[in-house]
Amino acid sequence: QIHRSQAPELLIAPESLAPGQHFIGGVFRPGSSGPITEVIDPCSEKPIASVADGTVEEVDAAVAAAVAAKGQWGSLVPKVRSEILHRVADRLAENAELLARLESANTGKPFMVSEDDVAGTIDTFRFMAGALRATTSMAAGTYAADHLSLILREPLGVVGVVTPWNYPLLMGAWKIAPILAAGNTLVLKPSEQTPLTTLKFAELVADILPPGVFNVVTGRGSVVGARLAEHPDVDMIALTGSVNSGRAVARGAAESLKRVHLELGGKAPVVIFADADLAAAATSLRAAGYWNSGQECGAACRVLVHESVAEQFTELLVQEVSTLRVGEPGAGPEIEIGPLTSKGHFDRVTGYLERAQRDGVRAVVGGSALEGPGYFVAPTVLVNVPDGAECSREEIFGPVVTIETFAGEEEAIARANDVPFGLAASVWTEDARRSHDVASRIDAGTVWVNSHLVLANEVPWGGFKGSGYGRDLSIYALEDYSRTKHVMHNRGR
Ligand code: NAD
Repeated sequence: QIHRSQAPELLIAPESLAPGQHFIGGVFRPGSSGPITEVIDPCSEKPIASVADGTVEEVDAAVAAAVAAKGQWGSLVPKVRSEILHRVADRLAENAELLARLESANTGKPFMVSEDDVAGTIDTFRFMAGALRATTSMAAGTYAADHLSLILREPLGVVGVVTPWNYPLLMGAWKIAPILAAGNTLVLKPSEQTPLTTLKFAELVADILPPGVFNVVTGRGSVVGARLAEHPDVDMIALTGSVNSGRAVARGAAESLKRVHLELGGKAPVVIFADADLAAAATSLRAAGYWNSGQECGAACRVLVHESVAEQFTELLVQEVSTLRVGEPGAGPEIEIGPLTSKGHFDRVTGYLERAQRDGVRAVVGGSALEGPGYFVAPTVLVNVPDGAECSREEIFGPVVTIETFAGEEEAIARANDVPFGLAASVWTEDARRSHDVASRIDAGTVWVNSHLVLANEVPWGGFKGSGYGRDLSIYALEDYSRTKHVMHNRGR
């Protein structure tokens, strides 16, 4: 049975928190309504901080600060902008442990996850600081008689950013770094449940980034996020979040015709053929299915395994999952699984588990919540999953992996694609022809072969279908956050 460790120590001293206020024009400003959103520790279920609940007027003030700063920031030569972003990375590195503890305190993430998030955050800033120097202009040439063309990359202006609660710091960095690298300024709204590392980030970089370049307005999606999406002076809106929020943002952006960048949900199929290294697949899924308690848009959550090896693979996966170390982050660095981040999400995930088991799905390990306090759910493997079952089609976003079987390659591909999402997938086989064919026919922005969830800043990340559009990471993100201008000179005059 799965054992839950208790935390022996507090993760963060109250004096280490940044002010629970908006960060506008380089300074913290109290919200007009006072600090009212309570931030809850998902292990103790007790409040650990409170932050301002932003209004439309506060968003407008932050956008005005970003508009005022955009000309100067956008015209810095690449070397200078790059140096500033390197200084941001240095400052984050100096405060890496504090940021990791804060992220764990707010989200319940095990330290190994928070440390990985902070390391990824720093590397995103370093990558973008370097990449911007190599990609600032595009081409020059003669393409029409007597004319010289200059194809230029320009900043867009002001970008609105809305981030989720599962990777508050890292998803922020995936937006902030390329947006600033491309010469834009921004206003960011963190998730109302997990604003603490974003505010700490603002405090840490306040003396590095010029005032107005980076602004934060905390508060609700329906107020702060919605205003950013519709604001006439915001040139682009980028959201990482759920499909419903993506739709709301796209609708809000329609009137001003601003650009929209959406990183939405996922339900990654893991297609395992009979010739695959089953033990390697099970070991990989120990991490890829359960990392961050499965609150991961690319999580390896939907196994489709060839019927001839399904039993063997299930046994191997159950062995892996039964030994996952569950506990509060403060219980030690070996903890692999923490609580879910909020009560609302805990209710959602346990609701999926209850309905699935009521409908005949069987939990071979886990299957329910763990004893409180805290929003802990046991790492779970579900089998006997009927075709089209809710738990196989919808994003559960918890430590839950479903196992279904297939008989042939065509069926495997059809079923892998039979979900509204298209973010990520993996294919497990030793057959090179099959790995190429299947990877090319799966409708997902990322397909791993004999691996899952491995990422690097050099590679693009983003989805197809209901998972949204636009790319994070890599030079593709720099392109997304800039615009292309063609200037043609008549050389005959
Ligand atoms: P969410 O959509 O509930 O919230 C995300 C953000 O959107 C929050 O800041 C929220 O306040 C804001 N928001 C809500 N309604 C809004 C509106 N009408 N207008 C503007 N903003 C609004 O998502 P979540 O529960 O915080 O995060 C989990 C979701 O994020 C999952 O679906 C997950 O798959 C997805 N996600 C995707 C990626 C990716 O790279 N594709 C990465 C991480 C998370």
